[in-house]
Amino acid sequence: MATALESKAEKHVKHTECFIGGQWQPAVSGKTFETINPATEEVIAQVAEGEAADIDLAAKAAREALENGPWGEMDARDRGRLIYQLADRIEAEAEELAALETLDNGKPIGESSKVDVPLVVDCLRYYAGAADKIQGETIPVRGNYFTYTRREPVGVAGQIIPWNFPMLMVAWKWGPALAAGCTIVMKPAEQTPLSCLRLAALAQKVGFPDGVINVVPGFGPTAGSALVKHLGVDKIAFTGEHTTAQTIQREAADTMKRLTFELGGKSPNIVFADADLDAAAAGAHLGLYLNQGQCCCAGSRLFVQESVYDSFVERLIEMNQSRKVGDPFDAETEQGPQVDKAQFDKVMKYIELGKNEGAACLTGGQRVGNRGYFIEPTLFGDVDDGMAIAQDEIFGPVMSVLKFKDVDEIVARANNTMYGLAAAVWTRDIGKAHHLAAKIRAGTVWVNCYDVFDAAAPFGGFKMSGIGRELGMKALENYLEDKTVTLALG
Ligand code: NDP
Repeated sequence: MATALESKAEKHVKHTECFIGGQWQPAVSGKTFETINPATEEVIAQVAEGEAADIDLAAKAAREALENGPWGEMDARDRGRLIYQLADRIEAEAEELAALETLDNGKPIGESSKVDVPLVVDCLRYYAGAADKIQGETIPVRGNYFTYTRREPVGVAGQIIPWNFPMLMVAWKWGPALAAGCTIVMKPAEQTPLSCLRLAALAQKVGFPDGVINVVPGFGPTAGSALVKHLGVDKIAFTGEHTTAQTIQREAADTMKRLTFELGGKSPNIVFADADLDAAAAGAHLGLYLNQGQCCCAGSRLFVQESVYDSFVERLIEMNQSRKVGDPFDAETEQGPQVDKAQFDKVMKYIELGKNEGAACLTGGQRVGNRGYFIEPTLFGDVDDGMAIAQDEIFGPVMSVLKFKDVDEIVARANNTMYGLAAAVWTRDIGKAHHLAAKIRAGTVWVNCYDVFDAAAPFGGFKMSGIGRELGMKALENYLEDKTVTLALG
Protein backbone atom coordinates (compact mmCIF):
# COMPACT_ATOMS: atom_id res chain seq x y z
CA MET A 1 0.00 0.00 0.00
CA ALA A 2 1.36 3.38 -1.00
CA THR A 3 2.04 5.80 1.88
CA ALA A 4 0.50 9.29 1.72
CA LEU A 5 3.78 10.85 0.60
CA GLU A 6 4.36 8.13 -1.98
CA SER A 7 0.89 8.71 -3.46
CA LYS A 8 1.60 12.42 -3.50
CA ALA A 9 4.88 11.71 -5.31
CA GLU A 10 3.04 9.63 -7.92
CA LYS A 11 0.89 12.69 -8.70
CA HIS A 12 4.08 14.50 -9.71
CA VAL A 13 4.73 12.04 -12.54
CA LYS A 14 3.66 14.45 -15.25
CA HIS A 15 6.23 13.98 -18.01
CA THR A 16 7.04 10.63 -19.53
CA GLU A 17 7.53 11.44 -23.22
CA CYS A 18 10.55 12.64 -25.19
CA PHE A 19 11.14 16.39 -24.96
CA ILE A 20 12.38 17.54 -28.37
CA GLY A 21 12.42 21.07 -29.79
CA GLY A 22 10.11 22.25 -27.01
CA GLN A 23 7.49 19.55 -27.72
CA TRP A 24 6.48 16.52 -25.67
CA GLN A 25 6.22 13.60 -28.06
CA PRO A 26 6.07 9.81 -28.00
CA ALA A 27 9.01 7.84 -29.36
CA VAL A 28 8.97 7.56 -33.17
CA SER A 29 8.64 3.78 -32.77
CA GLY A 30 5.77 4.22 -30.31
CA LYS A 31 7.67 2.01 -27.84
CA THR A 32 7.66 2.58 -24.11
CA PHE A 33 9.50 1.07 -21.14
CA GLU A 34 8.61 0.73 -17.48
CA THR A 35 10.19 2.73 -14.72
CA ILE A 36 10.00 0.89 -11.41
CA ASN A 37 9.71 1.98 -7.79
CA PRO A 38 12.65 0.06 -6.27
CA ALA A 39 11.09 0.07 -2.81
CA THR A 40 8.00 -1.84 -3.97
CA GLU A 41 9.04 -3.29 -7.35
CA GLU A 42 5.84 -1.77 -8.76
CA VAL A 43 5.65 0.05 -12.09
CA ILE A 44 5.47 3.83 -11.63
CA ALA A 45 4.91 4.77 -15.27
CA GLN A 46 5.50 3.86 -18.91
CA VAL A 47 8.15 6.12 -20.41
CA ALA A 48 8.77 6.80 -24.12
CA GLU A 49 11.61 4.61 -25.36
CA GLY A 50 13.69 6.87 -27.56
CA GLU A 51 16.02 5.32 -30.11
CA ALA A 52 18.16 6.50 -33.03
CA ALA A 53 15.26 8.25 -34.82
CA ASP A 54 14.40 10.28 -31.71
CA ILE A 55 18.04 11.13 -31.10
CA ASP A 56 18.24 12.35 -34.69
CA LEU A 57 15.23 14.64 -34.19
CA ALA A 58 16.68 15.93 -30.91
CA ALA A 59 20.13 16.56 -32.39
CA LYS A 60 18.54 18.51 -35.26
CA ALA A 61 16.40 20.55 -32.86
CA ALA A 62 19.50 21.31 -30.77
CA ARG A 63 21.44 22.38 -33.89
CA GLU A 64 18.59 24.59 -35.07
CA ALA A 65 18.36 26.25 -31.65
CA LEU A 66 22.12 26.81 -31.62
CA GLU A 67 22.48 28.23 -35.12
CA ASN A 68 19.15 29.85 -35.95
CA GLY A 69 17.27 30.36 -32.69
CA PRO A 70 17.48 33.17 -30.14
CA TRP A 71 19.91 31.17 -27.96
CA GLY A 72 22.93 31.67 -30.21
CA GLU A 73 22.42 35.45 -30.21
CA MET A 74 21.57 35.79 -26.55
CA ASP A 75 23.85 37.84 -24.27
CA ALA A 76 25.78 35.75 -21.82
CA ARG A 77 24.17 37.68 -18.97
CA ASP A 78 20.71 36.78 -20.23
CA ARG A 79 21.70 33.12 -20.49
CA GLY A 80 22.81 33.40 -16.87
CA ARG A 81 19.49 34.98 -15.92
CA LEU A 82 17.59 32.01 -17.40
CA ILE A 83 19.75 29.56 -15.44
CA TYR A 84 19.06 31.55 -12.24
CA GLN A 85 15.34 31.38 -13.00
CA LEU A 86 15.54 27.61 -13.44
CA ALA A 87 17.30 27.33 -10.06
CA ASP A 88 14.58 29.49 -8.45
CA ARG A 89 11.84 27.37 -9.99
CA ILE A 90 13.45 24.16 -8.76
CA GLU A 91 13.73 25.66 -5.28
CA ALA A 92 10.06 26.60 -5.38
CA GLU A 93 9.13 23.00 -6.31
CA ALA A 94 11.72 21.39 -4.03
CA GLU A 95 9.26 19.21 -2.15
CA GLU A 96 7.69 17.61 -5.21
CA LEU A 97 11.04 17.13 -6.94
CA ALA A 98 12.51 15.43 -3.87
CA ALA A 99 9.47 13.14 -3.72
CA LEU A 100 9.77 12.29 -7.41
CA GLU A 101 13.45 11.45 -6.98
CA THR A 102 12.74 9.20 -4.00
CA LEU A 103 9.93 7.46 -5.87
CA ASP A 104 12.03 6.65 -8.93
CA ASN A 105 15.45 6.09 -7.32
CA GLY A 106 14.61 4.85 -3.83
CA LYS A 107 16.87 7.25 -1.93
CA PRO A 108 15.56 8.35 1.48
CA ILE A 109 13.37 11.45 1.35
CA GLY A 110 15.61 13.11 3.94
CA GLU A 111 18.50 12.88 1.48
CA SER A 112 16.66 13.87 -1.67
CA SER A 113 15.19 16.93 0.08
CA LYS A 114 18.20 17.98 2.19
CA VAL A 115 21.08 16.93 -0.08
CA ASP A 116 20.10 16.42 -3.71
CA VAL A 117 17.70 19.31 -4.33
CA PRO A 118 19.79 21.96 -2.49
CA LEU A 119 22.94 20.83 -4.35
CA VAL A 120 21.06 21.05 -7.67
CA VAL A 121 19.95 24.61 -6.93
CA ASP A 122 23.42 25.63 -5.75
CA CYS A 123 25.10 24.14 -8.81
CA LEU A 124 22.78 25.90 -11.25
CA ARG A 125 23.25 29.24 -9.44
CA TYR A 126 27.02 28.82 -9.59
CA TYR A 127 26.92 28.37 -13.39
CA ALA A 128 24.33 31.11 -13.81
CA GLY A 129 26.92 33.44 -12.31
CA ALA A 130 29.67 31.99 -14.49
CA ALA A 131 27.91 32.58 -17.82
CA ASP A 132 29.16 36.15 -18.30
CA LYS A 133 32.67 35.46 -17.01
CA ILE A 134 33.82 33.41 -19.97
CA GLN A 135 36.42 35.46 -21.80
CA GLY A 136 39.36 35.06 -24.14
CA GLU A 137 42.85 36.56 -24.14
CA THR A 138 44.79 39.18 -26.08
CA ILE A 139 48.08 37.66 -27.14
CA PRO A 140 51.34 39.49 -27.97
CA VAL A 141 52.59 37.99 -31.26
CA ARG A 142 55.55 38.86 -33.52
CA GLY A 143 54.91 41.45 -36.23
CA ASN A 144 52.27 44.07 -36.72
CA TYR A 145 49.29 41.96 -35.80
CA PHE A 146 46.60 41.94 -33.18
CA THR A 147 45.78 38.46 -31.91
CA TYR A 148 43.02 37.51 -29.55
CA THR A 149 41.03 34.40 -28.65
CA ARG A 150 37.30 33.89 -28.55
CA ARG A 151 35.78 31.23 -26.36
CA GLU A 152 32.92 29.70 -28.26
CA PRO A 153 30.43 26.99 -27.27
CA VAL A 154 31.53 23.56 -28.46
CA GLY A 155 28.10 23.20 -30.06
CA VAL A 156 25.52 20.49 -29.47
CA ALA A 157 26.41 18.64 -26.28
CA GLY A 158 25.28 15.04 -25.86
CA GLN A 159 24.98 14.17 -22.18
CA ILE A 160 24.52 10.65 -20.80
CA ILE A 161 23.87 10.30 -17.10
CA PRO A 162 23.45 7.50 -14.54
CA TRP A 163 20.80 6.73 -11.95
CA ASN A 164 22.57 7.24 -8.61
CA PHE A 165 22.04 11.03 -8.38
CA PRO A 166 19.65 11.56 -11.30
CA MET A 167 18.71 15.19 -10.68
CA LEU A 168 22.12 16.27 -9.46
CA MET A 169 23.75 14.81 -12.57
CA VAL A 170 21.37 16.93 -14.66
CA ALA A 171 22.59 20.05 -12.84
CA TRP A 172 26.27 19.08 -13.13
CA LYS A 173 25.81 18.62 -16.88
CA TRP A 174 23.32 21.34 -17.82
CA GLY A 175 24.94 24.06 -15.66
CA PRO A 176 28.29 24.40 -17.46
CA ALA A 177 26.87 23.51 -20.90
CA LEU A 178 24.21 26.23 -20.72
CA ALA A 179 26.61 28.78 -19.22
CA ALA A 180 28.97 28.13 -22.15
CA GLY A 181 26.13 28.64 -24.65
CA CYS A 182 25.80 25.04 -25.86
CA THR A 183 22.54 23.30 -26.66
CA ILE A 184 21.83 19.90 -25.16
CA VAL A 185 20.56 16.43 -25.96
CA MET A 186 20.40 14.43 -22.74
CA LYS A 187 19.78 10.73 -22.25
CA PRO A 188 18.88 10.00 -18.63
CA ALA A 189 19.37 6.53 -17.14
CA GLU A 190 16.65 4.01 -17.95
CA GLN A 191 16.08 3.41 -14.20
CA THR A 192 15.46 7.07 -13.31
CA PRO A 193 14.17 9.24 -16.16
CA LEU A 194 11.42 11.09 -14.26
CA SER A 195 13.22 13.94 -12.49
CA CYS A 196 15.20 14.82 -15.62
CA LEU A 197 11.99 15.05 -17.67
CA ARG A 198 10.41 17.21 -14.97
CA LEU A 199 13.41 19.56 -14.96
CA ALA A 200 13.08 19.90 -18.74
CA ALA A 201 9.46 21.00 -18.24
CA LEU A 202 10.56 23.56 -15.64
CA ALA A 203 13.27 24.87 -18.00
CA GLN A 204 10.60 25.43 -20.63
CA LYS A 205 8.36 27.19 -18.09
CA VAL A 206 11.07 29.69 -17.14
CA GLY A 207 11.66 30.52 -20.79
CA PHE A 208 14.52 28.49 -22.26
CA PRO A 209 13.97 28.72 -26.02
CA ASP A 210 12.76 25.59 -27.81
CA GLY A 211 15.51 23.15 -28.70
CA VAL A 212 18.09 24.41 -26.21
CA ILE A 213 17.38 21.47 -23.88
CA ASN A 214 16.18 18.15 -25.33
CA VAL A 215 15.66 14.95 -23.36
CA VAL A 216 15.41 11.50 -24.94
CA PRO A 217 14.76 8.73 -22.42
CA GLY A 218 15.79 5.25 -23.53
CA PHE A 219 18.48 2.61 -23.28
CA GLY A 220 22.24 2.93 -23.54
CA PRO A 221 22.98 0.59 -26.44
CA THR A 222 20.24 2.19 -28.59
CA ALA A 223 19.54 5.83 -27.67
CA GLY A 224 22.90 6.36 -25.91
CA SER A 225 24.92 4.81 -28.70
CA ALA A 226 23.00 6.79 -31.36
CA LEU A 227 23.85 10.01 -29.51
CA VAL A 228 27.52 9.05 -29.40
CA LYS A 229 27.63 8.28 -33.13
CA HIS A 230 25.51 11.20 -34.36
CA LEU A 231 27.31 13.48 -36.81
CA GLY A 232 25.43 16.51 -35.55
CA VAL A 233 26.55 16.10 -31.93
CA ASP A 234 29.85 17.80 -31.10
CA LYS A 235 30.60 16.48 -27.66
CA ILE A 236 29.70 13.72 -25.22
CA ALA A 237 29.78 14.17 -21.45
CA PHE A 238 29.23 10.86 -19.69
CA THR A 239 28.99 9.62 -16.13
CA GLY A 240 28.85 5.89 -15.44
CA GLU A 241 30.94 2.76 -15.63
CA HIS A 242 34.44 2.77 -17.18
CA THR A 243 33.60 -0.11 -19.54
CA THR A 244 30.72 1.94 -20.98
CA ALA A 245 33.11 4.88 -21.37
CA GLN A 246 35.48 2.63 -23.32
CA THR A 247 32.65 1.69 -25.70
CA ILE A 248 31.82 5.37 -26.07
CA GLN A 249 35.46 6.21 -26.86
CA ARG A 250 35.48 3.63 -29.63
CA GLU A 251 32.11 4.70 -31.04
CA ALA A 252 32.96 8.41 -30.89
CA ALA A 253 36.22 8.03 -32.79
CA ASP A 254 34.67 8.29 -36.26
CA THR A 255 33.13 11.69 -35.59
CA MET A 256 36.09 12.95 -33.48
CA LYS A 257 33.80 14.03 -30.68
CA ARG A 258 35.10 15.81 -27.63
CA LEU A 259 34.74 13.44 -24.68
CA THR A 260 34.67 13.92 -20.93
CA PHE A 261 34.09 11.10 -18.49
CA GLU A 262 33.32 10.92 -14.79
CA LEU A 263 33.62 7.24 -13.90
CA GLY A 264 33.84 4.90 -10.97
CA GLY A 265 36.24 4.34 -8.12
CA LYS A 266 37.49 2.17 -5.31
CA SER A 267 38.45 5.02 -3.08
CA PRO A 268 40.85 4.52 -0.17
CA ASN A 269 39.72 6.01 3.12
CA ILE A 270 42.75 6.01 5.46
CA VAL A 271 42.39 6.28 9.22
CA PHE A 272 45.55 6.87 11.27
CA ALA A 273 45.69 6.08 14.99
CA ASP A 274 46.28 9.78 15.76
CA ALA A 275 42.96 10.86 14.17
CA ASP A 276 39.81 12.00 15.94
CA LEU A 277 38.43 8.46 15.80
CA ASP A 278 34.80 9.39 16.48
CA ALA A 279 34.83 11.80 13.56
CA ALA A 280 36.69 9.27 11.39
CA ALA A 281 34.18 6.52 12.15
CA ALA A 282 31.25 8.80 11.36
CA GLY A 283 33.02 9.92 8.16
CA ALA A 284 33.77 6.34 7.14
CA HIS A 285 30.14 5.34 7.70
CA LEU A 286 28.83 8.29 5.67
CA GLY A 287 31.53 7.88 3.01
CA LEU A 288 30.41 4.36 2.23
CA TYR A 289 26.73 3.99 3.07
CA LEU A 290 25.45 7.34 1.75
CA ASN A 291 22.97 6.79 -1.08
CA GLN A 292 22.85 3.01 -0.41
CA GLY A 293 26.57 2.87 -1.26
CA GLN A 294 25.77 3.93 -4.82
CA CYS A 295 28.38 6.67 -5.04
CA CYS A 296 31.25 6.81 -7.50
CA CYS A 297 33.49 8.19 -4.74
CA ALA A 298 32.37 5.75 -2.00
CA GLY A 299 35.16 5.10 0.50
CA SER A 300 34.93 1.38 -0.15
CA ARG A 301 38.51 0.50 0.89
CA LEU A 302 38.73 1.56 4.51
CA PHE A 303 42.34 1.31 5.73
CA VAL A 304 42.67 1.46 9.53
CA GLN A 305 46.04 1.64 11.33
CA GLU A 306 46.63 -1.62 13.19
CA SER A 307 46.93 -0.18 16.73
CA VAL A 308 43.33 1.11 16.63
CA TYR A 309 41.86 -1.43 14.22
CA ASP A 310 39.83 -3.49 16.71
CA SER A 311 38.26 -0.57 18.58
CA PHE A 312 37.54 1.25 15.31
CA VAL A 313 35.79 -1.77 13.82
CA GLU A 314 33.65 -1.96 17.00
CA ARG A 315 32.43 1.58 16.33
CA LEU A 316 31.59 0.67 12.73
CA ILE A 317 29.63 -2.40 13.84
CA GLU A 318 27.59 -0.31 16.29
CA MET A 319 26.73 2.25 13.65
CA ASN A 320 25.65 -0.41 11.16
CA GLN A 321 23.49 -2.15 13.75
CA SER A 322 21.55 1.03 14.44
CA ARG A 323 21.22 2.14 10.81
CA LYS A 324 17.57 2.40 9.81
CA VAL A 325 16.84 0.60 6.53
CA GLY A 326 13.36 0.74 5.04
CA ASP A 327 10.63 2.84 3.46
CA PRO A 328 12.42 5.72 1.72
CA PHE A 329 9.38 7.94 2.29
CA ASP A 330 9.76 7.62 6.08
CA ALA A 331 11.65 10.69 7.30
CA GLU A 332 13.57 8.53 9.80
CA THR A 333 14.93 6.16 7.14
CA GLU A 334 18.67 6.31 6.53
CA GLN A 335 18.94 3.66 3.82
CA GLY A 336 16.50 2.78 1.06
CA PRO A 337 16.60 0.06 -1.61
CA GLN A 338 19.23 -0.43 -4.33
CA VAL A 339 18.07 1.13 -7.57
CA ASP A 340 17.00 -2.05 -9.40
CA LYS A 341 17.20 -5.82 -9.50
CA ALA A 342 20.41 -5.86 -11.56
CA GLN A 343 22.21 -3.72 -8.97
CA PHE A 344 20.70 -5.73 -6.11
CA ASP A 345 21.94 -8.97 -7.69
CA LYS A 346 25.39 -7.52 -8.33
CA VAL A 347 25.80 -6.42 -4.71
CA MET A 348 24.55 -9.76 -3.33
CA LYS A 349 27.01 -11.55 -5.62
CA TYR A 350 29.90 -9.54 -4.14
CA ILE A 351 28.72 -10.28 -0.61
CA GLU A 352 28.88 -14.01 -1.41
CA LEU A 353 32.30 -13.52 -3.03
CA GLY A 354 33.59 -11.76 0.09
CA LYS A 355 32.41 -14.61 2.30
CA ASN A 356 33.90 -17.23 -0.04
CA GLU A 357 37.23 -15.40 -0.24
CA GLY A 358 37.55 -15.60 3.55
CA ALA A 359 36.76 -12.05 4.68
CA ALA A 360 34.91 -11.79 8.01
CA CYS A 361 31.29 -10.66 7.54
CA LEU A 362 30.84 -8.53 10.68
CA THR A 363 27.40 -7.07 9.98
CA GLY A 364 24.66 -7.59 7.41
CA GLY A 365 25.12 -9.73 4.34
CA GLN A 366 21.41 -10.41 3.78
CA ARG A 367 18.44 -9.01 1.93
CA VAL A 368 15.97 -7.02 4.06
CA GLY A 369 12.36 -8.18 3.69
CA ASN A 370 11.04 -9.83 0.55
CA ARG A 371 9.74 -6.85 -1.42
CA GLY A 372 11.96 -4.09 -2.81
CA TYR A 373 15.72 -4.21 -3.30
CA PHE A 374 16.84 -3.64 0.29
CA ILE A 375 20.19 -4.92 1.57
CA GLU A 376 21.54 -4.85 5.12
CA PRO A 377 24.48 -2.51 5.77
CA THR A 378 27.32 -4.99 5.32
CA LEU A 379 30.78 -4.80 6.85
CA PHE A 380 33.70 -7.05 5.98
CA GLY A 381 36.77 -7.16 8.22
CA ASP A 382 40.13 -8.89 7.63
CA VAL A 383 40.01 -7.98 3.96
CA ASP A 384 43.16 -8.50 1.83
CA ASP A 385 44.16 -6.14 -0.97
CA GLY A 386 43.80 -8.86 -3.59
CA MET A 387 40.20 -9.87 -2.80
CA ALA A 388 37.52 -8.94 -5.33
CA ILE A 389 35.69 -6.92 -2.66
CA ALA A 390 38.87 -4.81 -2.28
CA GLN A 391 39.38 -4.34 -6.01
CA ASP A 392 36.00 -4.04 -7.76
CA GLU A 393 33.48 -1.25 -7.57
CA ILE A 394 30.57 -2.93 -5.75
CA PHE A 395 28.28 0.15 -5.74
CA GLY A 396 26.28 -0.98 -2.74
CA PRO A 397 26.22 -0.92 1.08
CA VAL A 398 29.31 -3.12 1.48
CA MET A 399 32.38 -1.84 3.32
CA SER A 400 35.75 -3.57 3.26
CA VAL A 401 38.11 -2.86 6.18
CA LEU A 402 41.84 -3.43 5.76
CA LYS A 403 44.65 -3.10 8.31
CA PHE A 404 47.85 -1.08 7.71
CA LYS A 405 51.09 -0.40 9.60
CA ASP A 406 52.54 2.97 8.63
CA VAL A 407 52.74 5.86 6.14
CA ASP A 408 55.35 4.19 3.95
CA GLU A 409 53.20 1.15 3.36
CA ILE A 410 49.87 2.90 2.88
CA VAL A 411 50.74 5.06 -0.13
CA ALA A 412 51.46 2.07 -2.37
CA ARG A 413 48.46 0.15 -1.10
CA ALA A 414 46.10 3.10 -1.52
CA ASN A 415 47.29 3.52 -5.11
CA ASN A 416 47.04 -0.20 -5.87
CA THR A 417 43.87 0.10 -7.96
CA MET A 418 43.04 0.95 -11.55
CA TYR A 419 40.84 3.77 -10.25
CA GLY A 420 41.78 7.25 -9.01
CA LEU A 421 38.63 9.18 -8.21
CA ALA A 422 38.79 10.13 -4.54
CA ALA A 423 40.54 9.39 -1.26
CA ALA A 424 40.41 10.53 2.36
CA VAL A 425 42.97 10.77 5.15
CA TRP A 426 42.12 11.05 8.83
CA THR A 427 44.98 12.31 11.03
CA ARG A 428 45.89 15.16 13.41
CA ASP A 429 49.37 15.35 11.84
CA ILE A 430 49.22 18.07 9.22
CA GLY A 431 52.52 17.04 7.61
CA LYS A 432 51.28 13.50 7.12
CA ALA A 433 48.01 14.80 5.70
CA HIS A 434 49.73 16.95 3.07
CA HIS A 435 52.24 14.21 2.26
CA LEU A 436 49.44 11.74 1.50
CA ALA A 437 47.36 14.35 -0.34
CA ALA A 438 50.33 14.76 -2.72
CA LYS A 439 51.16 11.06 -3.07
CA ILE A 440 47.71 9.57 -3.63
CA ARG A 441 46.76 9.43 -7.28
CA ALA A 442 43.16 10.62 -7.13
CA GLY A 443 41.22 13.64 -8.36
CA THR A 444 39.95 14.55 -4.89
CA VAL A 445 41.56 14.06 -1.47
CA TRP A 446 39.52 14.85 1.62
CA VAL A 447 41.37 15.40 4.91
CA ASN A 448 39.39 14.78 8.10
CA CYS A 449 36.14 14.85 6.16
CA TYR A 450 34.35 12.86 3.44
CA ASP A 451 31.92 13.60 0.62
CA VAL A 452 32.32 17.35 0.87
CA PHE A 453 31.11 18.61 -2.49
CA ASP A 454 30.81 22.17 -3.68
CA ALA A 455 29.72 23.54 -7.03
CA ALA A 456 32.95 25.56 -7.14
CA ALA A 457 35.31 22.64 -6.44
CA PRO A 458 36.37 20.53 -9.47
CA PHE A 459 35.65 16.81 -9.28
CA GLY A 460 36.88 13.99 -11.51
CA GLY A 461 39.28 11.13 -11.85
CA PHE A 462 42.85 10.06 -12.46
CA LYS A 463 43.53 6.77 -14.27
CA MET A 464 40.39 4.71 -15.10
CA SER A 465 38.18 7.10 -13.11
CA GLY A 466 37.74 9.54 -15.92
CA ILE A 467 38.88 12.28 -18.23
CA GLY A 468 38.24 15.95 -17.48
CA ARG A 469 36.60 17.56 -14.49
CA GLU A 470 33.02 18.28 -13.47
CA LEU A 471 32.08 21.33 -11.39
CA GLY A 472 33.98 24.56 -10.82
CA MET A 473 35.18 26.83 -13.61
CA LYS A 474 37.13 23.80 -14.89
CA ALA A 475 33.91 22.18 -16.11
CA LEU A 476 33.28 25.10 -18.47
CA GLU A 477 36.36 23.97 -20.42
CA ASN A 478 34.43 20.83 -21.39
CA TYR A 479 31.93 22.95 -23.31
CA LEU A 480 34.17 25.54 -24.98
CA GLU A 481 36.35 25.76 -28.08
CA ASP A 482 39.12 28.38 -28.32
CA LYS A 483 39.27 30.34 -31.55
CA THR A 484 42.37 32.41 -32.35
CA VAL A 485 41.75 35.56 -34.39
CA THR A 486 44.63 37.53 -35.94
CA LEU A 487 44.26 40.94 -37.62
CA ALA A 488 46.94 42.61 -39.68
CA LEU A 489 47.35 46.11 -38.28
CA GLY A 490 48.23 47.80 -41.57
P1 NDP B 1 26.33 2.44 -17.25
O1 NDP B 1 27.67 3.04 -17.39
O2 NDP B 1 25.98 1.36 -18.22
O3 NDP B 1 25.18 3.54 -17.37
C1 NDP B 1 25.34 4.92 -17.35
C2 NDP B 1 24.60 5.57 -18.50
O4 NDP B 1 25.20 5.16 -19.73
C3 NDP B 1 23.13 5.15 -18.61
O5 NDP B 1 22.38 6.25 -19.05
C4 NDP B 1 23.21 4.06 -19.64
O6 NDP B 1 21.99 3.76 -20.28
C5 NDP B 1 24.20 4.62 -20.60
N1 NDP B 1 24.79 3.63 -21.51
C6 NDP B 1 24.92 2.31 -21.32
N2 NDP B 1 25.50 1.72 -22.39
C7 NDP B 1 25.74 2.72 -23.28
C8 NDP B 1 26.30 2.76 -24.59
N3 NDP B 1 26.75 1.68 -25.21
N4 NDP B 1 26.39 3.95 -25.21
C9 NDP B 1 25.96 5.07 -24.62
N5 NDP B 1 25.39 5.10 -23.39
C10 NDP B 1 25.30 3.94 -22.72
O7 NDP B 1 26.16 1.91 -15.79
P2 NDP B 1 25.03 0.93 -15.21
O8 NDP B 1 23.83 1.73 -14.94
O9 NDP B 1 24.88 -0.29 -16.08
O10 NDP B 1 25.71 0.48 -13.85
C11 NDP B 1 26.74 -0.49 -13.89
C12 NDP B 1 27.83 -0.14 -12.90
O11 NDP B 1 28.44 1.09 -13.28
C13 NDP B 1 27.36 0.09 -11.48
O12 NDP B 1 27.21 -1.09 -10.77
C14 NDP B 1 28.47 0.94 -10.95
O13 NDP B 1 29.56 0.12 -10.58
C15 NDP B 1 28.88 1.78 -12.14
N6 NDP B 1 28.25 3.12 -12.12
C16 NDP B 1 29.04 4.17 -11.84
C17 NDP B 1 28.49 5.42 -11.74
C18 NDP B 1 29.32 6.61 -11.42
O14 NDP B 1 28.78 7.61 -10.97
N7 NDP B 1 30.61 6.57 -11.67
C19 NDP B 1 27.06 5.66 -11.89
C20 NDP B 1 26.32 4.48 -12.26
C21 NDP B 1 26.91 3.27 -12.34
P3 NDP B 1 20.94 2.77 -19.55
O15 NDP B 1 20.05 3.69 -18.87
O16 NDP B 1 20.28 1.97 -20.60
O17 NDP B 1 21.72 1.89 -18.62
